[in-house]
Amino acid sequence: PFVSRSAFKLVELQQKSRGTLIRPGMCIVDLGAAPGGWVQAAARELAAGTSKGKRKGNGVIVGVDLLPLSSEVASLDGVSFVRGDFLDPVVQAQVVAALAEAREGGKGGAQVDLVLSDMLANLSGNNFRDGQLSIDLCEAALAFALDNLAPSKPPSADSQGAKGKKKRGPSLVMKCLQSSLSPAFQDLLKEHFEGVAWSKPSSSRPESREGYWVCSGLKAKKRRGQD
Ligand code: SAM
Repeated sequence: PFVSRSAFKLVELQQKSRGTLIRPGMCIVDLGAAPGGWVQAAARELAAGTSKGKRKGNGVIVGVDLLPLSSEVASLDGVSFVRGDFLDPVVQAQVVAALAEAREGGKGGAQVDLVLSDMLANLSGNNFRDGQLSIDLCEAALAFALDNLAPSKPPSADSQGAKGKKKRGPSLVMKCLQSSLSPAFQDLLKEHFEGVAWSKPSSSRPESREGYWVCSGLKAKKRRGQD
């Protein structure tokens, strides 16, 4: 069983992506990870390919949250955790350090395959203020992704589907509360990613304004500060 119902949203996003979102061997950052349902769901997917004799490396997940991970999640193989405010640059540096360490001595630096964010601030009930807080978290997640995502590669032979169809998956998934600020932020995402889709999992309460941006194909050499 998952430690949070949120896990079902990630399971659904994984299914929607036809299994391309989380693949064995990936290096994943999970922002707003506590209590750990997404970590559990992601760890399960990372492990999925390793039992079929096709060992691709176990993959790593580095979680960050203001609150602690549930102990059964914190002790999962390949999971590290940084406790703190992700908006704090010191905490972000700790995440980068944890990534380097998790990737065994930091070979290849802290390059990340997938940034997930399910971060949500405590809601005030004021739609404008809550929308702004949510965009602040998305901006931080985007900046971190632009600095740390591995550059997009053309799909490799083993990521081709049966009919040779491209199966490159998304590399940034972020929760956001929809507000008047969302369209401008979505335009910003489109400057950096080839594909930007808004996804509302059926396991997300219909009355909630939350949804997820699913971004794939990081554009080359488009770095923060150039827009
Ligand atoms: N994905 C999680 C799971 O499956 O268990 C649930 C995440 S919950 C919806 C949102 C989380 O975002 C909360 O645990 C909250 O503490 C965290 N959060 C909100 N603002 C944050 C911040 N500035 N830095 C780190 N975590 C933050």
